[in-house]
Amino acid sequence: MLIRDVELATEANAPRVDVRIRRVPGSATIAAIGSDLEAAAGEPIVHGAGGALLPGLHDHHIHLLALAAASRSVRCGPPDVTDREGLARAIAGASAPARPPGADERPAAWIRGVGYFESVAGDLDAGALSQLAPGRPVRVQHRSGALWILNQRGLETLGLADRLPDDAPSGAERDAQGRSTGRFFRADAWLRQLIEDPGPPDLAETGAMLARYGVTGVTDATPGNGAFEADLFAGAIATSRLPLAVRMMGLPSLAVPLQPGLQRGAVKLVLDDTTAIDPDSVVESVRNAHEHDRPVAIHCVTRTELVVALAALAAVGARPDDRIEHASIAPPELARQLAQLGVTVVTQPNFVRERGDAYLRDVDPSERPWLYRCQGLLDAGVALGGGTDAPFGNPNPWAAMQAAVDRRTAAGAVLGAEDALRPERALALFTSAPEAPGGPPRHVTVGVPADLCLLDRPWSRARDALDAGAVVATWHQGQLTWHAGLADGAAR
Ligand SMILES: [Zn+2]
Repeated sequence: MLIRDVELATEANAPRVDVRIRRVPGSATIAAIGSDLEAAAGEPIVHGAGGALLPGLHDHHIHLLALAAASRSVRCGPPDVTDREGLARAIAGASAPARPPGADERPAAWIRGVGYFESVAGDLDAGALSQLAPGRPVRVQHRSGALWILNQRGLETLGLADRLPDDAPSGAERDAQGRSTGRFFRADAWLRQLIEDPGPPDLAETGAMLARYGVTGVTDATPGNGAFEADLFAGAIATSRLPLAVRMMGLPSLAVPLQPGLQRGAVKLVLDDTTAIDPDSVVESVRNAHEHDRPVAIHCVTRTELVVALAALAAVGARPDDRIEHASIAPPELARQLAQLGVTVVTQPNFVRERGDAYLRDVDPSERPWLYRCQGLLDAGVALGGGTDAPFGNPNPWAAMQAAVDRRTAAGAVLGAEDALRPERALALFTSAPEAPGGPPRHVTVGVPADLCLLDRPWSRARDALDAGAVVATWHQGQLTWHAGLADGAAR
């Protein structure tokens, strides 16, 4: 395939060139770059019209299955739902999933809510949720992903209303009488085996959406990833329902099928200082991962969590591919330690937009300057990559890049102006190599894999407002996975 008349560089006055993709079984690479390349007989041609041809984007922190499941869930938090009445309306309006014929004997179908935040209706528990939603069994996930709240009908459906069984995990909150409050912290695996399983969500819709954003690869950062998820991803990649490469974090025991497009990443460690963190067990987990020749990716959203993570990495000795996820609060002394240890931070600038107004209200003023830092971390010598954390953040990486540039909250306030990035550096958060999120951006050169993203405008214009609407075509392994109005392989 020949892509005519595109810009490859993000510098001013980049030359306009033609680019040829060559596909051989099992791979596709950039075979030639030049001015006025001659089309071979029958070679499909795409006309770039002077648009920027970029490396395909890689979202370095996403949760694919949760993202797919979110599309069949009720949104229970801002901006869709902002108060108690809105929450009641949203849940009441949820349509029941289609049920197979003859299924009448089965209990009423669950309503699954996502994205709940306390600004809507305070600390929800079974009692409060039942007042808002008394009818069907309801479960609502907190937007942190760390908490599920069940209503009374939900608890009854699972046989948990009278007493919690002995095997209930420590995250199952109890009232003074020892009964469930309906709140379950980090108990997804245990809940999943109780709740009637609607089957894994289809990844095709999620894959198509990411392709529209120019995404050709993702790192799935779900801590519980194991054999089940590996098989699911492998199948979705093999059948092109997931038209992108997946790097999977997960359990220390994770093994992934040998197949192009699927790789094993770091062992994910989740620190949570709302429960006591045992620093020794963190050290042990890091050592265990390294002994199995795996890097770690440590989830840190508070200052304390970052302190504990850095101490553990210092004690064991950091690998160059160890990562800190989020580093939501990173004051200068911790930024220096991050740089000294040589670990990468994978940040989510989209949270500046999506959650910035709540941060300005709720986060202690002494910590506000250190929220989701970008340029400040780079200046301290920290390697920095980007991810959206979808579905807990908006999956659109262009919105994340734009937030890294303007640092604007949804209400228009500026959060951490000193941490603003140039558009080129914001792009680089999502064009670094999958195995090195904080490394240099990839470039479109002869010999590299044909993972590409074509914009409808030159970079000199695209950089003024980073917008997914500019993406007109995406290639993964040389195959068009998305195009806006380009007739298949034909001239526009
Ligand atoms: Zn995450």
